[in-house]
Amino acid sequence: MKCLHYTTILLQQHSIRPTSWEMEFKNSVFIKIFISICLSILCSSHDFDFFYFVQQWPASYCDSRHSCCYPTTGKPAEDFSIHGLWPNYDDGKWPSNCQRQSSLDQSQISDLLNIMHKDWPTLACPSADGIRFWGHEWKKHGTCTSLDQHAYFQVALDFKKRANLLQILGNAGIRPGKFYSMESMKQAIEDGVGYTPFIECNIDSSGNHQLFQVYMCVDSSASSFIQCPVFPHGRSCGSNIEFPSFSDQYSNISHDEL
Ligand code: 5GP
Ligand code: 5GP
Repeated sequence: MKCLHYTTILLQQHSIRPTSWEMEFKNSVFIKIFISICLSILCSSHDFDFFYFVQQWPASYCDSRHSCCYPTTGKPAEDFSIHGLWPNYDDGKWPSNCQRQSSLDQSQISDLLNIMHKDWPTLACPSADGIRFWGHEWKKHGTCTSLDQHAYFQVALDFKKRANLLQILGNAGIRPGKFYSMESMKQAIEDGVGYTPFIECNIDSSGNHQLFQVYMCVDSSASSFIQCPVFPHGRSCGSNIEFPSFSDQYSNISHDEL
C-alpha cells in the first residue's frame, strides 16, 4: 500500500518538459515504464504493514469437518503448533504468492528440520512429512516478506518460543479437556504475551465451538510482538469455548487417515 503511494508520487515527479510534444510523450512514457519496473521488483518483496503469527491447536484441527492425519513422524505432542507467519496490511488485506517461481529449497533449512517437525507439524491428509505444508506457507506468505527462506522459518520458530501459549494458559489454570470463557482465555494470553490475541474457533463433531487458532501480531521487521492494527474478520467464537484434549484423542492411531 505504502509502496503504491510512493510509486504514484515518483511517477508524478518524473514527468519531464522537453521542447516538443513528441519528445515529451516518448520520454515520459519511457521513464514511467522504467520506474514502474524497478518499483514493482522492490515492492513485491516487502510491502506490508505487520505479520500475523498464527498457532493452531491440533485437537481442534483434528476434531472438525475435515478431520486430520498425523504426520509420518508420528502423533505430535499436545501443544500448539505453528500454522504460519503471514504478512498483512493495516486495512485487513494481505499480499500472497509474491514470487511464483520461488519454491522451498530443503537444503536451506536442513538445520531447522528437527524443530520444525516438532513445532510446525502437518496435520492435513494424507499423512506427510511437512515439506509440502512448509513449502505452501513459504510460497503463499514467505515470498511476500523480505526474509530469505531460512530467516522466515527461523523467525516463526523463535516467536513460538516467545509465546508459549500452552504454558501461558496453564499458568492461568486453563488446561485442555474443559470449557472456558472466551474472555478468560484471551485475558490469560494478553497477560502472558503482553498483547491482545485474536482467537479463532471451529466446530467439533458435537457442534461445540472450540479454540482452533490464536493470532498474535508481529512488527514488519519481525522483531517483536505488537498490538494488532486490525483483527481478522468474521471468525468469532461463542462466549464459552471448549479447549479440547489432544492426548485423549485417537491416541492408538499413529499416522493413518482418521
Ligand atoms: P481461511 O479461509 O481458512 O480462514 O484462510 C485460508 C488461508 O488464507 C489461511 O490459511 C491463510 O493462508 C490465508 N488467510 C486467511 N486469513 C488471513 C488474514 O487475515 N491474513 C493473511 N495474511 N492471510 C490470511
Ligand atoms: P492456508 O490455509 O495456510 O492457505 O493453507 C494451508 C494449506 O496447507 C492447506 O492446503 C492445507 O491442507 C495444508 N496443510 C497441511 N498441513 C496443515 C496443517 O497442519 N494445518 C493447516 N491449517 N493446513 C495444513
